[in-house]
Amino acid sequence: MIPFNRPYLTGRELQFISEAHAAGQLSGDGQFTAKCSEWLESQIGCYKSLLTHSCTAALEMAALLAQVGPGDEVIMPSYTFVSTANAFVLRGAVPVFVDIREDTLNLDENLLDLAITDRTRAIVPVHYAGVACEMDSILDVAQQHGLLVIEDAAQGIMSAYKGRPLGGIGHLGALSFHETKNITCGEGGALLVNDPKLVDRAEIIREKGTNRSQFFRGQVDKYTWVDVGSSYLTSELCAAFLWAQMLEARAITDRRLAQWQRYHEAFEPAERLGLVRRPIVPEECSHNAHMYYLLLPDLEARTRFIDEMSKVDIGCVFHYVPLHPSPAGRLHGRCASGMAVTESTSDRLVRLPLWVGLEPEQDRVIERALDILVSP
Ligand SMILES: *Cc1c(COP(=O)(O)O)cnc(C)c1O
Repeated sequence: MIPFNRPYLTGRELQFISEAHAAGQLSGDGQFTAKCSEWLESQIGCYKSLLTHSCTAALEMAALLAQVGPGDEVIMPSYTFVSTANAFVLRGAVPVFVDIREDTLNLDENLLDLAITDRTRAIVPVHYAGVACEMDSILDVAQQHGLLVIEDAAQGIMSAYKGRPLGGIGHLGALSFHETKNITCGEGGALLVNDPKLVDRAEIIREKGTNRSQFFRGQVDKYTWVDVGSSYLTSELCAAFLWAQMLEARAITDRRLAQWQRYHEAFEPAERLGLVRRPIVPEECSHNAHMYYLLLPDLEARTRFIDEMSKVDIGCVFHYVPLHPSPAGRLHGRCASGMAVTESTSDRLVRLPLWVGLEPEQDRVIERALDILVSP
């Protein structure tokens, strides 16, 4: 059986967890949370990194920081995970969906002008598969209209756009350390704050609306309830696990990149024959091999591909079901453009297994996939 994903252990996770226990603090913001945050700050160059219990939590914090309310609009792709939209819908805001680019499957920056109204407050670029959105254009549009840019960089750790790490480019960025992401602690995330003006309030929102962080730094002499907030911290147990993974982030990424490249070379002849389309990574993007996908001719071919792979115990999956025609998407959001690329991608995309440790079995995945692609 070759599963679609298998979480990787570097070998030091349990040692760090027992160190956290020995240090006598298992709740958030202990020594391992500090190590992880500092690592992210130096790696990404963000002003402040705040560890959270998920990327969903980081996006919810971003929505609170953006101060969006009922009727405000937030532009995002429909081809994304539900949390991108939910975070803003929870504040009463309206997700305004735009179509994606044919090449990167990222939000099409040329559609932003169509989507902007006098209620628009923010743009949420999602860096699909760890390949950056066209950030210079997005930042230009945002600046012209006074909008916040909140990067959904859930898949983007160790990726960059024109040399700038993802999540560190907009006003705010959100990372995920979910089991299916490159660097993981099971469930985890981080809010990256790039605009220094947002830091104080970000800390308060994360600490249940109290100024506890300022208290611990000695900036105030007691801590109290000062704003809205919630519990977005992650436990030290998760941070300890995550620290082991961060220490290996470069090696993990390199091993994923090698697998990605092997798939890419193996499917080149199939692309030339018109049987599949392979991922496209623009020159200015360095990616992290978060996923390897293929675009098949149509839904029927994709369904057959996944079924045939599963018959030989190889786990392949598809995603995303677009948000705009979903029951909640129709209720809470609206479309600002046609959705032809989103809908066609959703029908045709299949993700292949890619995880550290797959190496000895990757040829079997490739051989079987090629057999299925060429057989009528
Ligand atoms: C994984 C993912 C999320 C959610 O991450 P969690 O840490 O599971 O909350 C959000 N957006 C995108 C694009 C994702 O891939």
